[in-house]
Amino acid sequence: MLRIAVVGSGPSGVYTAEALARQEAVPQVAVDVLDRLPCPYGLVRYGVAPDHEKIKSLQGNLRRVLEDPRIRFLGNVTAGGPGLPPERMLELYHAVVYCVGAATDRHLGVPGEDLPGSFSATRFVSWYSAHPDEAPDEFLLSARSAVVVGVGNVAVDVARILARGAAELRRTDVPEEALRALEKSRVTDVHMVGRRGPSQAKFTTKELRELGALADADVLVREDELALDPAYADPQALPAVARRNVEVLRDWAGRLPAGHRRRIHLRFFLRPAALLGEDKVAGVRFERTLPDGQGGVRGSGAFEDIDAQLVLRSVGYRGVAMEGLPFDEALGIVPNEEGRVLRDGGRSPGEYVAGWIKRGPTGVIGTNRPCAKETATALLADAEALLARGELSADPLEGLRAAGQRPVEWTGWEAIEAAEAALGRSLDRATVKIPDWAGLLAAAAGSPGCPG
Ligand code: NAP
Repeated sequence: MLRIAVVGSGPSGVYTAEALARQEAVPQVAVDVLDRLPCPYGLVRYGVAPDHEKIKSLQGNLRRVLEDPRIRFLGNVTAGGPGLPPERMLELYHAVVYCVGAATDRHLGVPGEDLPGSFSATRFVSWYSAHPDEAPDEFLLSARSAVVVGVGNVAVDVARILARGAAELRRTDVPEEALRALEKSRVTDVHMVGRRGPSQAKFTTKELRELGALADADVLVREDELALDPAYADPQALPAVARRNVEVLRDWAGRLPAGHRRRIHLRFFLRPAALLGEDKVAGVRFERTLPDGQGGVRGSGAFEDIDAQLVLRSVGYRGVAMEGLPFDEALGIVPNEEGRVLRDGGRSPGEYVAGWIKRGPTGVIGTNRPCAKETATALLADAEALLARGELSADPLEGLRAAGQRPVEWTGWEAIEAAEAALGRSLDRATVKIPDWAGLLAAAAGSPGCPG
């Protein structure tokens, strides 16, 4: 029996488990999918915006994989934490695949970045997604004006959640505390700001268009600013997504605002120079940039201040080093060759990676499928050598418990789901997420095989 641990139950972890279990090259395989949280699905549960119900429904597909009899979900297990360093994991399993994503945010590196009122967008996402590590009520929705730095899909998500009325979010699984805070929000203006031009924005067109379809928000763009982009006048030569983005923005430039309650200002060619304010954030100073003709920008020496009492920095995720595993600081990934972990340039037997920690935080959810497949193929090709390491002693579950972990098994997760459905009913809503560790573990407790 080839025993494999997949660390992380987001899309890359679940797709890896699926590729390892549903193959015929190695007849007997048992896959444990471990997660630090008691809940599965990673960023599909804790990153995809609550109003993106169609993408959220992917949880159903991931669930079917985790219910495969060859696969076992074990939540509330911190691989790489105390008692479970990578070398101990290799004593419990023939192979370990780390699918731990990119757990932190990149920094702007400008003065004032850490002023109260300035947050990484990923923290804001975690808050409205009920991530149990996120403290409630920290976000200053008493702000009237918010700046979102960056023009990727995460920036679009947070701008949309700020501009969408809470009433529309009531039907989603957004936690009750966040919903109440959003109901009280006084934010009327959201400025989403890119340092380069519209043809270099990272958002995708479907996500961009959604901003224009919000019930009570106008999207404002400035034609003169868009026109700084050489591709604005004739976007035909651009790659398809960039061309469609520019076409949408051109259309918006020609529209008159409808006078809605909220406004999203889409700004370009402005790079952050400093966050302003004494004891809390009061605005952002941007330097006007100009295209350098090679896809980049240069500073113009002219500055513009945008007032803001809330700043969300949305400039990308970054992988985090795990103690005991090699890490490429420059790229923010674990060095690897087709998913095989490299230590000092050589393959490290039994250790693999897939997803963002393997290739960096890019692509959509589906990008993880071929990425996971590549890693699984490499691992299965190594199966003989892995099995030659010998039969492992007890069920790894015992080893995990001996290491001080208190795993939440699938039945525990089902109990959490039932508790979230009951919470929703009590609030006259559909399923509502439980946002704290104590609540999640209390819901899981008592079900067979879970910490009591
Ligand atoms: P992203 O797509 O890499 O966008 C990061 C943005 O931050 C870019 O506009 C980038 O500008 C800007 N930026 C980086 N450093 C900056 C700096 N120092 N100052 C000012 N701006 C800076 O990252 P993301 O939005 O976090 O998304 C991560 C991944 O998740 C992407 O693959 C995304 O598509 C995916 N995602 C998808 C969805 C969806 O499909 N609905 C939702 C959320 C996330 P430059 O281009 O100039 O570097």
